[in-house]
Amino acid sequence: MVIALLRRTPGSLTSALRMHRAAVATPVARFMSTHAINAACEDHEPGFLGSVETFYDRAAKLSGVSEKTLSAIKAVDSVLSVKFPVEIDEDTHVVIEGYRAQHSRHRLPSKGGIRFSDEVDLQEVEALASLMTFKCAVVDVPFGGAKGGVKLNPKKFTPAQLEKITRRYTMELCQKNFIGPGIDVPAPDVGTGPREMSWIMDTYRQFNPQDVNAAGCGGVRGRNEATGLGVYYGIREFLQYPEVQKLSGLNGDIAGKTVIVQGFGNVGYWAAKFFENNGAKIVGIAEHDCAAYDANGLDIEAIFKHRGEKGTFRGFGNAEIINNAINVMERECDILIPAALERQIGLKNVKNIKAKIIGEAANGPITPEAHDYLVSQGKVVIPDLLLNAGGVTVSYFEWLKNLSHVRFGRMSRKWEEAGKDKLLSLVEANAGRQLTPQERRAVIHGAEEHELVYSGLEDTMIGACEETRATAAAKGTIDFRTAAMVNAIQKIATVTEQSGKMFL
Ligand code: NAD
Repeated sequence: MVIALLRRTPGSLTSALRMHRAAVATPVARFMSTHAINAACEDHEPGFLGSVETFYDRAAKLSGVSEKTLSAIKAVDSVLSVKFPVEIDEDTHVVIEGYRAQHSRHRLPSKGGIRFSDEVDLQEVEALASLMTFKCAVVDVPFGGAKGGVKLNPKKFTPAQLEKITRRYTMELCQKNFIGPGIDVPAPDVGTGPREMSWIMDTYRQFNPQDVNAAGCGGVRGRNEATGLGVYYGIREFLQYPEVQKLSGLNGDIAGKTVIVQGFGNVGYWAAKFFENNGAKIVGIAEHDCAAYDANGLDIEAIFKHRGEKGTFRGFGNAEIINNAINVMERECDILIPAALERQIGLKNVKNIKAKIIGEAANGPITPEAHDYLVSQGKVVIPDLLLNAGGVTVSYFEWLKNLSHVRFGRMSRKWEEAGKDKLLSLVEANAGRQLTPQERRAVIHGAEEHELVYSGLEDTMIGACEETRATAAAKGTIDFRTAAMVNAIQKIATVTEQSGKMFL
């Protein structure tokens, strides 16, 4: 078993970490794609971590924060790298590689998803952990940023094998103190979902039976759809802004807009569903093997069911099937939502993008040069660190709920309903009109847990979009990505400088 466990001492990098980072992320390696997700990118375009750092450096210059604080914020704090054997069947053992990076612990716990993919490597995990730090700051979630990954293709393992691997990976996290409600809290990402989260939480509980807050790694109603719903709220908000309408030539209505979504997993499916429910037309959806296109709009539930049964979009109704799936992103549409993986829009395809608004549901789907090209063409890019922050926002609510050991609304729902009931009776007596039972129910209905979660998410997204827009306007010509990053850096800098760590 190989274990590398590195923590940064406050204010300065340990020599071990410096050596480690030098080994895994030389300047050349940082600026090259480390894996196969580069079809859209030219060779000289930065890899994922290089892209995040490029965006950071641009915003850093405009942030007014000192160099010393900026370099402390940029560095990845701690990295865990493990290899462990797992018995797959009686005759076969495989050695699995896993990672967890905690980019920032300026606020605790750190928080971030766990990705299962055979593309996972340390750079990808570090890039995603950095983005998490900035994302949490953008939506005022008081967490540091982290990310984990296990290098495997989940489709090649049975559920029982996946359970074994997930539990074994969690054991490593427990033993090295990289998990816990006050330390580091996992979440779903590519290739993982509620099932994996339950295995992780259960394993953590077995290692920490005395931890009354073990469920701080658990679930809440509304987490599944949270990121997709946040994507919907975010794009809806931007469509309302006169400057966005002017740039895009679009009006503020979701209804009637044409949308293309890349990636029909957790985020892509829910985003498509919320757009469809609000009157948009989903004309194209891309998956890893092919894309489906229909100018009249695809029925989201029907195509989801078809893919569930057949494993592909092929054979779905009258939809046109595009074999080279990435090409569907070049079709005419109002809104393009990349919701699959990083580096999907690069210099090779950016000139063909026709969408007027590109909403980054995935992390890092656009390279820096492609981003600049889109902005130069008057396209509106709504950046990942803002737009897909709905997931971590609801995870934050989930964490609060688990620490308080009571479901949202349990203590107040009936009390509020009774109060509204009394008030209505007084109003009825004065107005001389009785409400119908339906009218009465609609007014006094106390919020269910998921309604509170949705409302908290909506409020958070509206606030974060407005803050991003305000910074973009205040700084004159900067784009929304730089604006969101400037806001994040300034907030993190305040906490970092106030902590006193900078003086150690
Ligand atoms: P997922 O595994 O549920 O779905 C990803 C989907 O993309 C899969 O269906 C996969 O087959 C498809 N895909 C893979 N390669 C593709 C390609 N080249 N072209 C088209 N489709 C492809 O993952 P997810 O949780 O939906 O995450 C998607 C993206 O959103 C990732 O970048 C992730 O980091 C980001 N994200 C996820 C969350 C979350 O809550 N799950 C939160 C924030 C950001």
